[in-house]
Amino acid sequence: MKVLKFGGTSVGSAARMKDVAKLICDGEQKIVVLSAMSGTTNSLVEISDYFYKNNPSGALEKINTLEQKYIDVIEELYSTAEYKTEAKKIIKSHFEYLRSFSKAVFTLFEEKAILSQGELLSTNIFQLYLKETGENSTLLPALEYMRIDKNSEPDTAYIAENLEKQLQLQPGKTLYITQGYICRNFYGEIDNLQRGGSDYTASLIGAAIKAEEIQIWTDIDGMHNNDPRFVEGTQPVPYLHFEEAAELAYFGAKILHPTCILPAKLNNIPVRLLNTMEPKAHGTLISMQSKKGTIQAVAAKDNITAIKIKSGRMLLAYGFLRKVFEIFETYQTSIDMITTSEVGVSVTVDNTKRIDEIVNSLKKLGTVTVDTDMVIICVVGDLPSENVGYQAKAVAALKDIPVRMISYGGSNYNISFLIKATDKQRALKALSHGLFE
Ligand code: ADP
Ligand code: ASP
Ligand code: MG
Repeated sequence: MKVLKFGGTSVGSAARMKDVAKLICDGEQKIVVLSAMSGTTNSLVEISDYFYKNNPSGALEKINTLEQKYIDVIEELYSTAEYKTEAKKIIKSHFEYLRSFSKAVFTLFEEKAILSQGELLSTNIFQLYLKETGENSTLLPALEYMRIDKNSEPDTAYIAENLEKQLQLQPGKTLYITQGYICRNFYGEIDNLQRGGSDYTASLIGAAIKAEEIQIWTDIDGMHNNDPRFVEGTQPVPYLHFEEAAELAYFGAKILHPTCILPAKLNNIPVRLLNTMEPKAHGTLISMQSKKGTIQAVAAKDNITAIKIKSGRMLLAYGFLRKVFEIFETYQTSIDMITTSEVGVSVTVDNTKRIDEIVNSLKKLGTVTVDTDMVIICVVGDLPSENVGYQAKAVAALKDIPVRMISYGGSNYNISFLIKATDKQRALKALSHGLFE
């Protein structure tokens, strides 16, 4: 069985939903993961923010605006009065639920319940549309099988067992429609897989059922060789190795959720990135196969902070790095990049929640310098050190950009550069020019 995931834009209007229905209705059995309609999760974040700020009337205004959008979608999506009435009932129940929070104490728990409404709405509306068109489809409730553990990691055994149970409860269906992004946590509360997490849902389902393929349908024809939001003329990359795709996703290629490649890789399930607006385009096939000796793509990860620890005393004496890393471990902050010299070590982090405590502790080990507003530029491809010249090409392309750190050799698949955020677009363009033109 295949798992197909459609992102926010792919289900962003009545017309788009109809296109998705056409795409999936080919008689083959499949699991279809849907995101919330585009803009919905952002609106739900905003609504929660009003509740947090104890401004229920602000929240209610946003809720009404969002509800109107859904009422408009319904008018266009269904052809019979009977289904329009049924859909209105569904919408009403979700929006009444949202309004009910104006009387409640508002915490992270309530916020997560609010955030879950986007995917519940999109899947309910879509399933009702399939029913109207006579498809043999049903809903698979994600909150009954998708679960994270105490460390917020997916509980893969629970997911596999309970997804199977849900499938067996409704045998013989051709289309199983389910919610991306939402899950329950260790305590059974409603939670989520972080923003953009519907991709992760699809790959976790793929891994759980040992799917033959995972397809991520979005608004672009696959992974491009550079970020199309910053560089013109980027090209789709037809084939990527799992490792290459994982590096690109982790280092900022928004088309994929950072962790979504891992479950597919562990189970050797190919992942195809496809364009809902252009379904015939090849897109990108991510698998165990790599294209030998080529630089494939470039990505950028924002909001990076660099920390340098310099010591007069023999810095890299044994045990020193352990002490540095222990500080990051204590404050549960992971390091992205690291470079060392005899007198100093530089690391980068993207999570700055506990940066003050980290810096205070590091000061016991040496002189600490912190640079904020940095960006990691990641050049990805088949780049083992026997392949002479690839790092030289990347460095040459960046010859006019001040580079704060370089990391190469951590894997065979990436070279990373740390630069100032203000140089990001210039650097991405220079790399496209130097590597792909
Ligand atoms: P969805 O809502 O379908 O999950 P996303 O907005 O999360 O879609 O991801 C698709 C977007 O990712 C594209 O519209 C594009 O702007 C952006 N993007 C960033 N980097 C890349 C890249 N290297 N290749 C393709 N798309 C990219
Ligand atoms: N709806 C969620 C978000 O906007 C999850 C997703 O789209 O993947 O982040
Ligand atoms: Mg996405």
